[in-house]
Amino acid sequence: MVFPTKFKAKMSKLLGRESRDFFTALHQHDVKGLRANTLKVDSESLEKSLPWPLAPLPWCPSGFQLQHGVAAGKHPYHAAGLYYLQEPSAMAVAEAASVSAGDLILDLAAAPGGKSSHLAALTNDVGLLVSNEVNAKRCKALLQNLERCGIRHALVVNERVERLAEVWGGCFDKVLLDAPCSGEGMFRKNDEALAMWTDERVAHCARLQDRLLDDAASLVKGGGRLVYSTCTFSPEENEWVVAKFLKRWPAFQLRQIGLEGLAPGRPDWLPEDLKRDDLHKTRRIWPHLHPGEGHFIAAVERISGPIEKLLPFRAHNTAPDILKLWQQFVGATLLIDPARGKQIVQYGDHLYAIPPLAPFPKGLKIRRIGLRLASIRGKRLLPSHALVMALRPVQVRETLSFEPQHPELLRYLQGHPIEHRGNDGWLAIAVGGHCLSWGRRAKGIVKNAYPKGLRRR
Ligand code: SAM
Repeated sequence: MVFPTKFKAKMSKLLGRESRDFFTALHQHDVKGLRANTLKVDSESLEKSLPWPLAPLPWCPSGFQLQHGVAAGKHPYHAAGLYYLQEPSAMAVAEAASVSAGDLILDLAAAPGGKSSHLAALTNDVGLLVSNEVNAKRCKALLQNLERCGIRHALVVNERVERLAEVWGGCFDKVLLDAPCSGEGMFRKNDEALAMWTDERVAHCARLQDRLLDDAASLVKGGGRLVYSTCTFSPEENEWVVAKFLKRWPAFQLRQIGLEGLAPGRPDWLPEDLKRDDLHKTRRIWPHLHPGEGHFIAAVERISGPIEKLLPFRAHNTAPDILKLWQQFVGATLLIDPARGKQIVQYGDHLYAIPPLAPFPKGLKIRRIGLRLASIRGKRLLPSHALVMALRPVQVRETLSFEPQHPELLRYLQGHPIEHRGNDGWLAIAVGGHCLSWGRRAKGIVKNAYPKGLRRR
C-alpha cells in the first residue's frame, strides 16, 4: 500500500516514534467483527452456536473479532438477523451513547445501519429510533439491515440534517452524528478511501462536520447527549471539530466515555487558539493499538436547552376492510397480534404498525414508519419480510425449523420451494429456533417467500 506523501508526513510528525507501529499496522490485514443482535440472541449463546472462534472485544459486550478469512455473511444465522457484521472499532460508538430503554434517539447519518441496529439492541427496541440517511440509494441497505435485525420501533428517514433541525429541534434524548469523513481508518479495507485522500478533502470534511454538528446540537433536548464519531485519524476532523464546537456551544459539556480499552483523545494536537484539556475525554481507536480499523468518538451533554415534544403521529383512517384482512391474517397465522396497542396505518400499498412514540411526519421524506406488516394486493394481504423477522417461532402457529446446514434450508435461501404436507396457508421458516422467512403452503408445497433480492445464487 502506498500512502499519499502528505498523509505519511503528517502522521509521522503527529505520532513520532509510534508512527512506525502505525504504518506497520496499516500494511496488515483489516480486522473484521461481528456483533450479536441481542434483540434475538444473547452473545454467549451465539458464540457457542457459531462454527468459528470469536474473540471478545473489551469495549462492546456483544462484539467479537472474527478471524481473517471467515465468510460470516454466508451463515444462515446472518440471514436470520442473529448478528451484524461490523468493523470492531465502530462498535464503540453506540456504546458511548449511553442509551436507555424509552429514549428518543436520532441517528443522523445512519446507512448502512451498523450503529442504528446497535442502538436499537441497546434499548431492547423500547422507545423510538429515527434513522436518517441523506443518500436515497444508501437508504435501501439501511432498511434491509434494520428489517433483518427485527427492529419494530424505528423510522427510516431520507432527509438533509438541516431540514430535520428545522422540524425536530430540541426533541431528542440522544443524537448520533457518525459523520462523513476523509476515511483514513478505511485505508486497509477500501482502496477508494486511499485514492480519494487529499489534504483539501480533510479540510472540506472538517467544514462539513462543523455545519452538521451545529444542526445535530440543535436537535438535542436539554439534558440530552450528542455523540460525534468519525473513522479517520486527522485531528482537524476530530479534536479540532469538537473544540470549535464547544466554543460555539457553551451549553454543551464533554463527558467521559467509560468504555474499556480505548485510547484518550489528543488535546496536545489542538492549535493554540483551541487549546483545552477536557479533550482527553474523547476516545480514539488505533489500528496499531487495538483490534480495529480506527475511530474517534466524543460524547457531549446539553446541560441547558429547550425540551421540545415531538408532535405525535395521528393516524389517517385505514379502510375497515383492510383492517379486517389484517385481523384474518393474524387469526389464521399468528399466536399474538404484533400490532396490538398500535395504530395500524396504510401508506400506499403497505400496512404499518406505528411505534407509540412516532412523530407526525410534517412533510419529511419518511421511507419506513415502524414495522411493515404487510403489502396489500387487491383483496389479499401478503405478510412482509420485516414482520417475520420481528417474530419468534413461538408467536407463529406453524413453523418449519431447520438446522443451519440442512440442504433443504440452503435450497430455500436460493429460492426453491419445500415439499411439506399440511393445511394451506402461511407458515414461518426458521433456523436454529429463529424466524428467517415466510413460506406459503398450497397442496403440500411450501412456496418460497424469501425476498428475491436476498436470495443466494
Ligand atoms: N453510521 C453508519 C453505520 O454505522 O452504518 C455509517 C455512516 S457513514 C460513516 C457516513 C454517512 O454520512 C454516509 O451514509 C453518507 O451517505 C452520509 N453523508 C454524506 N454526506 C452527508 C451530508 N452532507 N449530510 C448528512 N449525511 C451525509
